[in-house]
Amino acid sequence: WDMFVLAFVERFFRPTYRKDDFVLGKKLGEGAFGTVYRVSLKNDPSKAGDLVLKKATEYGAVEIWMNERARRACSNSCADFVYGFLENSSKKESEYWLIWRFEGEATLYDLMQSKDFPYNVEALILGEVQDLPKGIERENRIIQTILRQILFALDSLHSTGIVHRDIKPQNIIFSEGSRTFKIIDLGAAADLRVGINYVPKEFLLDPRYAAPEQYIMSTQTPSAPSAPVATALSPVLWQLNLPDRFDIYSTGLIFLQMAFPALRSDSSLIQFNRQLKRAEYDLVSWRKTVEPRASPDLRRGFELLALDNEIGWELLISMVRYKARQRTSAKTALAHPYFVREGLLALSVMQ
Ligand code: ADP
Ligand code: MG
Repeated sequence: WDMFVLAFVERFFRPTYRKDDFVLGKKLGEGAFGTVYRVSLKNDPSKAGDLVLKKATEYGAVEIWMNERARRACSNSCADFVYGFLENSSKKESEYWLIWRFEGEATLYDLMQSKDFPYNVEALILGEVQDLPKGIERENRIIQTILRQILFALDSLHSTGIVHRDIKPQNIIFSEGSRTFKIIDLGAAADLRVGINYVPKEFLLDPRYAAPEQYIMSTQTPSAPSAPVATALSPVLWQLNLPDRFDIYSTGLIFLQMAFPALRSDSSLIQFNRQLKRAEYDLVSWRKTVEPRASPDLRRGFELLALDNEIGWELLISMVRYKARQRTSAKTALAHPYFVREGLLALSVMQ
């Protein structure tokens, strides 16, 4: 009953907006399914550029649903969603407008492009520049902290029943307010508990980060159930098919890119994917073929993952596996010994 009252109160007291309430600012992104702008509210110039607007095509409806659900169920793991509505413009096809709080200037992708990575992230998370010697141990702790934050956000998303399906550095934003990484862009997400977007739109998936299984659900799963059926069935389907492991594979590739400076560019990631496929998606045999003739940039990654008896490497290979059911879950990954030794915070307390 309390929950009911809360939902009721929330629905009626949350602000609602229309198209004319916004002043468009800088364009932040443009994809096949929408355009993203930084925006302000007309009647509140004190908060200029405070919000983000996505004008989306027909898939905007799913994205609004996912954001509403994530906001209620796991508010800290995703960008702070404000409001979504259907904008029926006179001539064009109607658009969905989605509004979030502006979380910060940089995605993990932007931060990884800097040659200062991961120290630039350390400065953001701690809010200060550390006066410690730079070295592989310190880099490892920063990467560990970033990875933990991503897995933490994913774990709550998955526990809610949402699979993201487009996890990549471009869709992970650094929230300057909470000094943590948050997930954005739920446009390709699937909510399995209620069957929303149950049939995966595989063309939405980014091939650079997508796991080898084409569909997040086994193709043997019968056709998409209607909503009430799905509510009853999907926890079982979740157990059978482990669709969350799709996101784990993508997260493993992000971990790989953070550890290996040589794999951070798009072209080198594409080349890596080709090599991994040739190695039949077995990271151990990939390592055997590339390590002996590795460039210093590549060797650096193996060195980082080899710290503490190869504990990082062990976590990486538990995430990037061909078979979904052999991959670790976000929750299990968080309990991995790689994270037992504290990351950044311990580093700042240590001195
Ligand atoms: P697309 O469908 O174009 O990939 P995204 O939702 O990923 O749309 O947003 C595009 C870009 O806009 C992101 O990569 C990020 O740079 C920026 N962005 C999106 N949401 C936010 C937010 N809440 N705060 C700050 N920047 C954001
Ligand atoms: Mg995106």
